[in-house]
Amino acid sequence: MVMAKRFHKIRYNEQSLRMEQVPYDLKDYVLLAVKRIGVLVLISFGSIYIFDTYFESPTDRAQRREIAFLEDRLGTMDEDMQDMAIILEDISDRDDAIYRSIFGVESYPSHLRNPGIGGIDRSRTLRGYDHSQAVISSEERLAELQRKLVAQSRSFEEVLDLAKNQTELLKSIPAIQPVRNEDMKRMASGYGYRIHPIYKVRKMHYGMDFSAPTGTEIFATGDGEVIMAKRTWNGFGRHVIIRHGFGYETLYAHMSKVLVRKGQKVKRGEVIGLVGSTGTSVAPHLHYEVHKDGRKVNPAQYYFNDLTPEQYEEMLKQSASSNQSFD
Ligand SMILES: [Zn+2]
Repeated sequence: MVMAKRFHKIRYNEQSLRMEQVPYDLKDYVLLAVKRIGVLVLISFGSIYIFDTYFESPTDRAQRREIAFLEDRLGTMDEDMQDMAIILEDISDRDDAIYRSIFGVESYPSHLRNPGIGGIDRSRTLRGYDHSQAVISSEERLAELQRKLVAQSRSFEEVLDLAKNQTELLKSIPAIQPVRNEDMKRMASGYGYRIHPIYKVRKMHYGMDFSAPTGTEIFATGDGEVIMAKRTWNGFGRHVIIRHGFGYETLYAHMSKVLVRKGQKVKRGEVIGLVGSTGTSVAPHLHYEVHKDGRKVNPAQYYFNDLTPEQYEEMLKQSASSNQSFD
């Protein structure tokens, strides 16, 4: 039979003046047990702590990847929304500058275009997380986009109503490109500050230059009446001005040949002359201007009849990039 192991402690006996072995009593055993459990607990918690700090469980790793993925997506969506806001801005600029001004109505009221944030604070339920701020600002951006989109679509509804009753006006406004340019390769220089090809100084270029071979057909960009068709020995060279009514006039310069007379009525798309390099010009091209109420405006905004949105973007890019005009 195996005897249970007994613990002893050494005690000094004052009577016998000797050290002697005394078996553990209950109190000693309890104390021993408490000590051992204590050490065990300490080791357990210690290792959990160390493991937790320096090692990652598969669940942790999966969650960390998940969070990184969500952060990444949130960032991308944020950028997309910024892009959309820019496009929308562009649309509303065109709306105010063109569509609404064509019909002679005021710009869409800015308080309707940029309605304030109303109602309850939707972000309250989103607070208290590490990513609260990112999520809140994304949601706010999205809500703003929604409000602006609704406003824009209302504005377009008004414009559509106006358009239905104004076919005459729509035929008259300059709304196509003055030369055939399906592939957008003819754009040479746009409206804005450009280096003048002869004077070599930065000058405001009030029109748009289309580079094209001598003899290329030039079209009237809207219905109207020719009010000038003549040759000057400098500046515009052989040029034509058409009055379209509703405050619009267009100018076509540096022609090699003028094919209309002063006082002649023309239709949109009718050939009025041929491309050349007369006047102040360094190469065959058409210099084209649009005037509205006596002011020279950017022709780029008036090609809505023959450009898809993609072509329009391409044209803006090209006309903005060239640094020197053909004048
Ligand atoms: Zn020019």
